[in-house]
Amino acid sequence: MRNYNFSAGPSMLPLEVLEDVQRELLDYGGTGMSVTEMSHRSKAYEAINAEAESLLRELMGIPDGYDVIFVQGGASLQFEAVPLNLCVKKAADYVVTGNFSGKAFKEAQKYGDMVCAATSKDKNFTYIPRLDKSSFREGIDYVHICHNNTIFGTRYDYIPDTGDTPLVADISSSILSQELDVTEFGVLYAGAQKNLGPAGVTIVIVRRDLADRADPLCPTMIKWATQIAEHSLYNTPPAFSTYVVMKVLRHLKKNGGVKAMQKRNEEKAKLLYDFIDNSDYYTNAVEKRSRSLMNVPFVTPSEDADARFVTAAASNGLVALKGHRLVGGMRASIYNAMPLEGVKKLIEFMKKFEKENK
Ligand SMILES: *Cc1c(COP(=O)(O)O)cnc(C)c1O
Repeated sequence: MRNYNFSAGPSMLPLEVLEDVQRELLDYGGTGMSVTEMSHRSKAYEAINAEAESLLRELMGIPDGYDVIFVQGGASLQFEAVPLNLCVKKAADYVVTGNFSGKAFKEAQKYGDMVCAATSKDKNFTYIPRLDKSSFREGIDYVHICHNNTIFGTRYDYIPDTGDTPLVADISSSILSQELDVTEFGVLYAGAQKNLGPAGVTIVIVRRDLADRADPLCPTMIKWATQIAEHSLYNTPPAFSTYVVMKVLRHLKKNGGVKAMQKRNEEKAKLLYDFIDNSDYYTNAVEKRSRSLMNVPFVTPSEDADARFVTAAASNGLVALKGHRLVGGMRASIYNAMPLEGVKKLIEFMKKFEKENK
């Protein structure tokens, strides 16, 4: 029996996709082999690679003036790829709203004059700062934000205006969960394992005028222009992961695309937040307008009850609810593939646990 998996990542995938992959595991489309076994130069794989890109372009509304690449190394490698690819003036501003944006800022400091323009550390990252053009320096290479903060459960409810300075965003835990206007960004990047597919492939979306200004010392494999020129096939790609991503994108398209997905995600999140807000047993510390659609941290009145909650939930088929060690308590990650039914089951369990433990 399958569990409802509330893990922050890797996370649930749509059952239909897994079954499809299972069916094709031994013989993909009459090739007599699995996608994991085939040459990345084969016609079959080239078609998968091309379809993954075109579906992503269609679903996100990525205009022609942007390149899309599928690379390795996770979002974490992009923390360094960003400064190495974009630093001409060797200066950028970072907004630190949690663990991953903090890591991105730390890595970037090796490559230039990086400034933390704003942070929500003063309130343990429970809100998103209000920023405008005056929050940032002029004449810098870029501004970096993390759109959804997976660990602290916050999300930008607006996109900061950075004027002529390109905005770079880590969208690892929010990609395709809601509509985003790609033209507001210079660069977007996301690891696949939250909303898109298996770990191992990372998506980078780059405005074309920013794609070829890498530092001469930037490693070939980290330089975006390398993979752009080769349609993500410069070296052996994470083919199986990209293939599953393509299936997830097909599934999303079939189910109404990003707009319909956003509506479902808003419904799921509202159900859970409303329940928590109306409870005098559970709390979520995040400022309301900054709340994440994808990651919902919450606590009971005691650490002891939190620990028991996680264990008891797991024996009821609601797994991976333990909060990140930086926050404690619980965290329900309700990514695209988490059905409404899973959230309803979680709330039922929360009610029962409260009754038995209050
Ligand atoms: C998970 C996550 C990362 C780290 O991704 P890796 O693929 O493990 O490098 C970075 N940023 C955000 C917002 C994440 O959710």
